[in-house]
Amino acid sequence: MRDTDLYARILNVQAPWSVEDVELDQPGGEVRVHVAHDGGVPLVCPECQQAVPGYDTRQRQWRHLDTCQLRTLLVADVPRVNCPEHGVRQIDVPWAEEGSRFTALFEALVIDWLQEASIQAVAKRLGLSWSAVDGILQRAVNRGLARREPIATGALAVDEKAYKKRHNYLTVVSDGTHVLHVAEGRREDSLGSFLQSLTPAQKHRIQWVSMDMWNPFIQATIKHLPHGTRKIAFDRFHVAKQFNEAVDRVRRTEHKALAKTGDERLKGTKYHWLRGGGPRKEADQEQFDQLRRQELRTARAWAIKETAANLWVYRNRDSARNGWNRLLAWMARSRLQPMVKLGQTVRNHLSGILNAVMAETSNSLAENLNNRIQKIKVRANGFRNLNRMINAIYFHLGGLSLYPAKAGHGA
Ligand SMILES: [Zn+2]
Repeated sequence: MRDTDLYARILNVQAPWSVEDVELDQPGGEVRVHVAHDGGVPLVCPECQQAVPGYDTRQRQWRHLDTCQLRTLLVADVPRVNCPEHGVRQIDVPWAEEGSRFTALFEALVIDWLQEASIQAVAKRLGLSWSAVDGILQRAVNRGLARREPIATGALAVDEKAYKKRHNYLTVVSDGTHVLHVAEGRREDSLGSFLQSLTPAQKHRIQWVSMDMWNPFIQATIKHLPHGTRKIAFDRFHVAKQFNEAVDRVRRTEHKALAKTGDERLKGTKYHWLRGGGPRKEADQEQFDQLRRQELRTARAWAIKETAANLWVYRNRDSARNGWNRLLAWMARSRLQPMVKLGQTVRNHLSGILNAVMAETSNSLAENLNNRIQKIKVRANGFRNLNRMINAIYFHLGGLSLYPAKAGHGA
């Protein structure tokens, strides 16, 4: 078999294209595969697919998958056509997307690597520049977003993510499994712009929007979804976090006051109070049991928090309301300032909490997404701007179909 035939097979080059020559650049260890277009075959405009006259040819080259561990380039004189309607255009080549300097199979390889490693690592591994790899990633995301099926979920989860030392935020909307939308900021329009983009049928399908007790998200939901108020469900993990923060504020104030009198009982106990009721080491458990039975303000705040954690099990809305109201009454008379304040917040948001109790919205999936966004953020130290961070989230968590169609992975 001649090497041109071999390469025609390896590269799957088919008529009207054929492998004309294979050139091994010895010192560089590079294979250049010259591909030619059959001059007898009529040319078509890439835009309208009409047979049109040829214009000239331009030499182009594409990086392809390595062959025999040698960097491999496809080189071709690509005809340009002169379409009466679309002007002078380069004809479509079957191995690469328009405008790319890489074959579709090579782009697919880069996309596979990017699932596992940072842009920088992939660039180094494949001998590419940072921006070449970044370009492949950006194109993959654009392709994936363009191909995406219309959104058909009945439940949304909205979350805010701090980005770059807490001064910037991203709003992330998911269906619990995949990220559907990422926007800068955490303003009303950060969520509103997404809800606005939905069709009336899509809006009607949405039964729950799980979120933090964050007013701009509440307003956006009320404004853009029919019966929005009934659909707001405050995420139990966010609510639990606020209870934890209130317990910790009580503990810090009390510890400061006790320490002044030489009482160090609360020293080093922060995480005893914050963790849930799961198993502890025996020694820790004894120490903690002893501590929480004492007349401590922190112990009372902790008891409130633990009670709140058990108020998510109701299946009946009236019983749930009674349970929460009992807790709110306790908080109001607790004389623990952070708990009094949190009680007011919870009272103002009670209907959305009861919605969440009834919806049984499980945020475990959304929480899993959160952890993965966290990992992207860690890796994102190398991101050069916010848009790249957003696209990285779509790339990894959007559930998108990312490969070029010509890579044959199926669009
Ligand atoms: Zn045309």
